[in-house]
Amino acid sequence: MVEQLSALEMASTEKRETSMKAITLLYHDVVKGDMESSGIAGAGAALYKLDVDQFKAHLDAIAATITQPIRLVSDLIEASDLPVLLTFDDGGISAYTQIAPLLESHGWRGHFFITTARIGEPTFMNADQIRELASRGHVIGSHSHTHPSLISGLSNDVLLDEWRTSAQILSEIIDQPVTTASVPGGFFSTDVAQTAAKAGIQWLFNSEPTTQISVVAGCRIMGRYNIWRKTPAETAARLARGDMSLRLMQSLSWNAKKVAKRLGGSSYVKMRRLLLNLLRG
Ligand SMILES: [Zn+2]
Repeated sequence: MVEQLSALEMASTEKRETSMKAITLLYHDVVKGDMESSGIAGAGAALYKLDVDQFKAHLDAIAATITQPIRLVSDLIEASDLPVLLTFDDGGISAYTQIAPLLESHGWRGHFFITTARIGEPTFMNADQIRELASRGHVIGSHSHTHPSLISGLSNDVLLDEWRTSAQILSEIIDQPVTTASVPGGFFSTDVAQTAAKAGIQWLFNSEPTTQISVVAGCRIMGRYNIWRKTPAETAARLARGDMSLRLMQSLSWNAKKVAKRLGGSSYVKMRRLLLNLLRG
């Protein structure tokens, strides 16, 4: 299904669509009650953390609905259906203690994107744990070095340094090149992608809810569907089987936010209210 990139696509620094598609779900931490036990601290980050039982229910619901195995970027070449990928951002300790064993109980592997400046902190994985996940068949990728609050606002030099430093630290840990990454906060720009490509990243996951795979400077850009603490297992399963209405809803909401952010705060609230009414209607 996945074609070779043309010379034009390799050379182009503009974002271009390819004929490739995939459904990728974006998770963060999985905790046992204590929100501060894994990953980034604070109320904002907690909105994305699932409890263990909830995460188990998500995986069971996904397993019951999909007709194909969960894939990794490395096996997209052979994929014939709309492939489903699971990704986990930030590099919190729960990737090692909860998430990977639960994925493996289904025979699945995931993509773990690590904020390398946090490696070894109490609520983040250490180098040994990251190495072990890689040896168990999971994909280890970069989530930048410092997780800047607005990565798309950085100069190209700083951006390149974020990707290069992070990829180098991880490749030394897992003893293989690091070719995947995800964008912190989902703040994507072509500069974010071009600098990632320069640092050797071939697959860059952002937070745009789309199945369309694009390419910038030879780096494939993968959209993702965000999973929140409040996301029911059934919703995750419907996303995984490619439910059009749900995908459309996430896409509408994401685009409305983007427009409203440009217009200013109160417009965002109005737009959100309008959208919710439309969806209810
Ligand atoms: Zn993050």
